[in-house]
Amino acid sequence: MSRVVLASNNPGKLKEFSLSLTAAGIEMVPQGELGVSEAEEPFDTFVENALAKARHASRITGLPALADDSGLCVSALGGAPGVHSARYAVATDGSRSDAANNAHLIAEMAGHTDTRAAYVAVLVYLRSALDPRPIVVEGSWAGEVLSAPRGHNGFGYDPLFYLPDLGMTAAELPLEQKTMLSHRARALRALLQALRGESFNSKS
Ligand code: IMP
Repeated sequence: MSRVVLASNNPGKLKEFSLSLTAAGIEMVPQGELGVSEAEEPFDTFVENALAKARHASRITGLPALADDSGLCVSALGGAPGVHSARYAVATDGSRSDAANNAHLIAEMAGHTDTRAAYVAVLVYLRSALDPRPIVVEGSWAGEVLSAPRGHNGFGYDPLFYLPDLGMTAAELPLEQKTMLSHRARALRALLQALRGESFNSKS
């Protein structure tokens, strides 16, 4: 089993990634367990931020690394909140919350008739910190932004993220179903497919 450092300490992500990658012979170790601090995410694109996180974790541990960066991109807002999704509405004391982010999104959407949006997740897998050919995959999940929240499952923008085909928001969807359909699940499936042809050697 190859060891790969996960450039995140989010237990939800660890669980989701481990479930799929263990079957591919990969043991995911969260970076916190290896003494890796959070990397800066200063860039304007998901791929640059995910690459920075993966490179930081790989450089410090000497292990292959997997990182993800995700967010909500709204057409009428030029792709915002995008990489700033987690801190779209930052309070004066520096704190942030899903409720404040959602309220901010509703305010920004006022007057817009185009409600199209997509959740996006980019995963970057580095065999080493100097890997010149990272595996980069993206998963997206198309939907629409509502003007009032619905549902209590999930997190983040899920109560405003409406799926017309299903007739419900991501926060009304049972968690198991979201886990199968989400942008992260789609990206993970693409990563697994890309890794299938790889021979895993944690020293490479
Ligand atoms: P991160 O990739 O964990 O940094 O997440 C970025 C931010 O994007 C989150 O804090 C949420 O605001 C938003 N986001 C990403 N994925 C989801 C999702 O599946 N549901 C709701 N919000 C999401």
